[in-house]
Amino acid sequence: MEATETHIFVVEDDPAMRQMVCEYLAAQEMTTTALSSADELLRRIHTRRPDLILLDVGLPGTSGLEACQILRSQGDRIPIILLTARTEEFDRVFGLEIGADDYIGKPFSPRELLARIRAILRRTAFVPGAPNQAIDDTRIGGFLFQPSARRLVADDGSERLLTTVEFALIAEFARNPNVALSRERLLTVVHGRGSTLLPRTIDVAVMRLRRIIEPDTSKPRHIQSIRNFGYMFVASLD
Ligand code: CA
Repeated sequence: MEATETHIFVVEDDPAMRQMVCEYLAAQEMTTTALSSADELLRRIHTRRPDLILLDVGLPGTSGLEACQILRSQGDRIPIILLTARTEEFDRVFGLEIGADDYIGKPFSPRELLARIRAILRRTAFVPGAPNQAIDDTRIGGFLFQPSARRLVADDGSERLLTTVEFALIAEFARNPNVALSRERLLTVVHGRGSTLLPRTIDVAVMRLRRIIEPDTSKPRHIQSIRNFGYMFVASLD
């Protein structure tokens, strides 16, 4: 598969953890670059682009969360998995809200880490014409969703690049217009089977999407809530 070309930045200040992760990924024929601080990451990211960043949350100096926020505020959509020692739901939700694609709580098994990485890379590697996933361009309110380019284009021509989470979610909606989709199903689509995330994280992702596509987020028209169940995408209203 794509393994030989996959390049991962491992940003972790704990040397033992950093080495363990790098050695494991190297054994999976991935290339790794070990970095010990977010500042180093923010310097290096512009010279060499990895396929994905494993980003420790608790780093000296700039934290992993801050680094993630900085990259996203620069419009950088590079896939990020947060490594977090904290388990509180607030942090999980917050991590996704600031644009991380996933997170994994320490301690984690190397196998679980690899599964998460592969799940994200599969979503990221989506290309036009790919057999199973092909979705046509879909109109969503004032936007055209272009799955092949992973973007939303507004009627005024401006573009919104989508995070892998946003993309996976909107693609699932576009594939299933006018169908009530449960939170659990959306969670599986977005984060893979066996995800330890709570269904509530889907609410956070939907909230982010609504801020982009809904003219009035207090009266959502395109992504409608189905009480005690999930969401339904309504593509065309007029
Ligand atoms: Ca740390």
